[in-house]
Amino acid sequence: MTDRIYYTEPACRSFEATVLRIDERDGRQIVVLDRTAFYPTSGGQPFDIGRLGPVDVLETIDAADEVLHVVNGPVPVATRVRGEIDWARRFDHMQQHTGQHVLSAAFDRLFENRTTSFHMGADFSTIDLVRDMTPAEVERAADEANRVVWEDREVSVRFVSAAEARRLPLRKEPVREGTLRLVEIRDFDLSACGGTHVHRTGSIGSIGIANVERFRGGVRVTFVCGARAVRMFRTWRDAVAGAVRMLSVLPHELGSAIERLQVESKDLRKTMNRLQVTLAGHEASRLFAAASAAGDVRVVVEVLEGWDAAGLKMVAGALVARNGVAAALLSVGDPMAIVVARSQNVEIDAGKTLRVILDRFGGRGGGRPDLAQGAGLKGTAAEIIAAARELLSAHS
Ligand SMILES: [Zn+2]
Repeated sequence: MTDRIYYTEPACRSFEATVLRIDERDGRQIVVLDRTAFYPTSGGQPFDIGRLGPVDVLETIDAADEVLHVVNGPVPVATRVRGEIDWARRFDHMQQHTGQHVLSAAFDRLFENRTTSFHMGADFSTIDLVRDMTPAEVERAADEANRVVWEDREVSVRFVSAAEARRLPLRKEPVREGTLRLVEIRDFDLSACGGTHVHRTGSIGSIGIANVERFRGGVRVTFVCGARAVRMFRTWRDAVAGAVRMLSVLPHELGSAIERLQVESKDLRKTMNRLQVTLAGHEASRLFAAASAAGDVRVVVEVLEGWDAAGLKMVAGALVARNGVAAALLSVGDPMAIVVARSQNVEIDAGKTLRVILDRFGGRGGGRPDLAQGAGLKGTAAEIIAAARELLSAHS
């Protein structure tokens, strides 16, 4: 059995202990001590890390009445060792965890909205509330929670029997039997909890709501406390400042500015598309007029400047909408693209023709007998043009 120092002394950062046992679990080394200040993952609060004598504690695990320390090196059994908690990490956890008590109590006291679960992540923490709430209600609860933070109320811990606990106004029915550890925020909250908390609410710093979303009939509230609130402020400030600079607007005008840009861009896309279709028609007419007929089929093989793969396809489509055309159009941009197409009344297989070209010049692509496209060809435009002309003329 491990004596858990953090139950009674949550501010303890270093301690002396005796190594009771070493074990191996899933290829990892485990140390069990007679006493520890390392907090193992439980109740939504993540584990502590730190040093144990000469080795690192990588993870701390709760295993019934023992605390397991996952370490990265040998620690001799029956020796005394000094444990040292990574305090920056632990203090952050204490801020988030105590902040959660205050926030959950605020939702409970103002709106009788119960917290069903709590999760602390690396950047954000969440609580899930039973019922849905309006944004204004969430803000009211956050204001109330911050008021309690800034009043710097005492946070105390005491142990009671389950029978005693039943007579007390606990925020949540305790699920455990036997002795219960109660955490009290003076005149505001009383909960059964095994986690670590700051001594006074002022140490939480502030509570910021990062997001509220619907979740299982209620809401999931994402929040940050302490240094995380400052970090979030910096990240969001930089993101907003960058966007504001680019759009030359004030922060509160960002939403409407982006909406305006989206509408403009949609209109431009429509206009461009219409113009491209018109232009492709003209380009097809020009190419058709300039092409010489070989028998019943006009073979059009050209390099088109300034057209992308989609544009090539459009010109080719306009060309083969006429009868008696076999076409291979090439764009010389990077990557080099090619479209092979033929009219319905022409017997050439565009897909097979493209395959022969790709076999010779590399690149990828494919298509149907009437239209095929490829890209990434290696070779000069002149070589590819000559090959395509030969293939299309031979079949026509
Ligand atoms: Zn707690």
